Amino acid sequence: MSDRSPEEIRATVLSKLAQFKRKSWKPLVREGEDIPASSKFGGTPVLCHGESWPLCGACQSPMRFFFQLDSQDLPSTEVQIFGNGILQLFYCSSYECDVHSDHPARFPFNPRVLVRIIDRDLVTSEVIEPKMTDPFHYDWKIEDNFFRARFIVDWEEIDDYANFIERERLEFYLNDYDDDFEIDDDEEYNLAHDLSYPKDKLSGWPDWCNGKELVECPSCQREMNFIFQLASEDNLPYCWGDVDNEFIFQCPEHREQITYIWGC
Ligand SMILES: [Zn+2]
Ligand SMILES: [Zn+2]
Repeated sequence: MSDRSPEEIRATVLSKLAQFKRKSWKPLVREGEDIPASSKFGGTPVLCHGESWPLCGACQSPMRFFFQLDSQDLPSTEVQIFGNGILQLFYCSSYECDVHSDHPARFPFNPRVLVRIIDRDLVTSEVIEPKMTDPFHYDWKIEDNFFRARFIVDWEEIDDYANFIERERLEFYLNDYDDDFEIDDDEEYNLAHDLSYPKDKLSGWPDWCNGKELVECPSCQREMNFIFQLASEDNLPYCWGDVDNEFIFQCPEHREQITYIWGC
């Protein structure tokens, strides 16, 4: 056991990992009566004028609405992070679809997921909600058609650090062979192992669970930017797989190339 305080150990580790520090934003939320045209988790989304509810591209069932974020509601330093418009995520949570589909939900550009940015001037709040056919949470009933709305009312800035999966991809190892981060202390190692913020967040680093996926833009083959993380059981009462995280990625050049990946 070292005689250092937890604060001293943390300060030492953070200074050694300073090159992996990024700004990230935790959404601050409140619950309330649903308003379709708002930035939120759950509730009822806006749709484009004349559009019917999005269907799963694999099983044709109505997809569940998870999340929408208007770029006007972003932190003032991040207003251009994904462009101008309303970012939305729909996902087919049907167990039957998951079992029978040829499209495992974890891969990008998946017909079982709709992630898009729509023009706020072209949307309507006059949305006809579909009848969902499957319960989507182990202790919820089929009649619980939608998640209760949680509005994003503000953001808390946090320091985010790449977790060990991301660092090792960049060939940065926490061992004696690396001159930059020589570590011979279990307490430091355990803390440094996984410093990435594990909950819902805007920007920062994706908190990969087991392995990193390289998400490439289909137009230019460049690595896409991480935009948003949806964690299991945080602002939405939903568990992705084995308590995994979901990530939204976008090409910085081809902004229409935006996708979701299941980070298991
Ligand atoms: Zn489906
Ligand atoms: Zn591109």
